[in-house]
Amino acid sequence: MNNGRIKVLPDDVKNRISAGEVVEGPSSVIKELVENSLDAGADRIDVHVLQSGMKKIMVSDNGCGIMRDDVALAVMDHATSKISDVHDIEGIDTYGFRGEALACIAAVSDLTVLTRHVSEATGTRLFSSASLPGKTEISDYAGPVGTTVIVENLFYTVPARKKFLKAPQTELRYGRQVLLNAAQASPGVSFTFNTDQKRRQNLPAADSLEERLRQIYGNETSDSCIFEELTDLQAGICGMLSKPDFLLPSRRMQQLFINGRPVDYRYLSFLLSRAYEAVAPRGKYPAAVLFLTIDPSLVDVNIHPAKREVKLFDSRYVDSLILHLAEKVLNRSHNINEKYIHPVTAPEMSDDTMEVQEKPDQTLTVSSEYSSSQKASSPVSFRKTEDQGTLFRTSGSPAPVRELRDLYINMTSQRDWSVLGQLFKTYILAEKGDELYIIDFHAAHERFLYDELRQRGIPREKQELLFPVMAELSMDDCSLVTENLELFSEIGFDMDLFSDNTITIRSVPAVLGKVDEKAFLSEAVDCIREDRRSDRIYDSIAATAACHSANRAGDLLTDMEAELLTEKVFSGKHELRCPHGRPFVHIIKKTDLEKIFKRKL
Ligand code: ADP
Ligand code: MG
Repeated sequence: MNNGRIKVLPDDVKNRISAGEVVEGPSSVIKELVENSLDAGADRIDVHVLQSGMKKIMVSDNGCGIMRDDVALAVMDHATSKISDVHDIEGIDTYGFRGEALACIAAVSDLTVLTRHVSEATGTRLFSSASLPGKTEISDYAGPVGTTVIVENLFYTVPARKKFLKAPQTELRYGRQVLLNAAQASPGVSFTFNTDQKRRQNLPAADSLEERLRQIYGNETSDSCIFEELTDLQAGICGMLSKPDFLLPSRRMQQLFINGRPVDYRYLSFLLSRAYEAVAPRGKYPAAVLFLTIDPSLVDVNIHPAKREVKLFDSRYVDSLILHLAEKVLNRSHNINEKYIHPVTAPEMSDDTMEVQEKPDQTLTVSSEYSSSQKASSPVSFRKTEDQGTLFRTSGSPAPVRELRDLYINMTSQRDWSVLGQLFKTYILAEKGDELYIIDFHAAHERFLYDELRQRGIPREKQELLFPVMAELSMDDCSLVTENLELFSEIGFDMDLFSDNTITIRSVPAVLGKVDEKAFLSEAVDCIREDRRSDRIYDSIAATAACHSANRAGDLLTDMEAELLTEKVFSGKHELRCPHGRPFVHIIKKTDLEKIFKRKL
């Protein structure tokens, strides 16, 4: 094809190429159209989608409308009413400014614009078809002030693009997310989202951001969070953040908006983990939906065609605002008492659990950390048992029955390890050869239950609930559930939609036993959101089931249980990590202790 001659591409080819950057799928069309409506000052926006947006997307608003003379320009490349010279790019306060969205959409679909400008008595209708590039039909339109844009048959002229689209339900979810994001950025605007499944989401205009977040995330979540704000000379930040005891299994409720645009800010999760360090155990994350308003000249939104990324000129300043806001929330929820403070976990160990840390001073840190952080809960006392010359904890637990004890003495005689006792009601201490084993027994128990479940085959029966449970979910989760009822039913959850935010759970996977249905449901929702296959979903259900039925730290084990668990650890048949990946064995070598006590150098 390359004949070595350079030529300038015709407009329709240019547009089709840039369409690939701006219009990735139906959700980006929705995003561009909704942003245009917001830029037009609308306070009511209705979105309709058919077949996840592939057949039709319609966005109507009551904004200022487009003048008849400008309508044809609107669908031309680099035609915009929002900026006029290069200086304007320095401080953009509208969503749009590139003037390419409508042109790109027109290049890959059939586009109809129905509009009436406030100053005109008659409206205008424009139609353009991707199969006839550059040709537009203009006629009269008798409708109210405002604009309706209809996009039909997306990508019909570029079938190759369709291959890159996600499953229809995923695309629909993205589309809804776009709308929910816009709704969070503009609380005073009323939105509806209508799909062919006759489901309609309704977000009436809210008086405040706090109220809008409540509409979207539901009362339960909002009550578990605190709404807080901070203002500074150059910027303001506000949002909803977790109270210390509201922690989620994933980071999915962490989002930063900068000047109304949801952005992927790389450091957000890190900053939040730092702020919540003292209250969040590993694997638990706070919710934080944050809105930063900053002088537009301090951010550059023009680095990504879809504007998902922004460049901050002073990210350290933004980081400190985020940290301060989180601090304010944690201070305000003066519940930050002993109850919430999670024991400091041992310093990060090497990835391979069975490997001993080589540096003696690091080992020293391990032990000093344990003692300082655990002062409150006094370690269990030890006593010597004569028959085995081993230390056992004192406990009020009944002695094992006679036969079992015999069995267990027999076991002892053949093995090369012994249990020394239990520490802080959390760890088993065991000795083998020249090594001290510290075993986190809850996590170990979890692993063994999980392995057993998987070995026996995870039962796929349902367990009907005697009393259906009502679960309040976010709007997004609720829609995900209603759109995947069959899939949920396959894994054991029978549910009905009760209201926009509430689901009735009628059955749960039998393997769960007596546990918190809502917690499991949210775990399952996460799995489905990540498009995992149903056997993988079963794996995580098994992992959660194991976690919930395993011994909790804080309950002592009987001697027998401690022995059996330790036996399994040394059996070599199990991975020494809990099903969620946390290591549960740490070894300290005799030589490490010798170094600490300076017995040997
Ligand atoms: P941009 O938003 O970057 O300016 P678009 O291609 O999205 O570019 O839109 C081009 C122009 O069409 C806008 O600048 C605006 O003047 C006009 N326009 C588009 N949608 C609407 C709408 N819903 N209401 C009023 N004007 C609109
Ligand atoms: Mg635009």
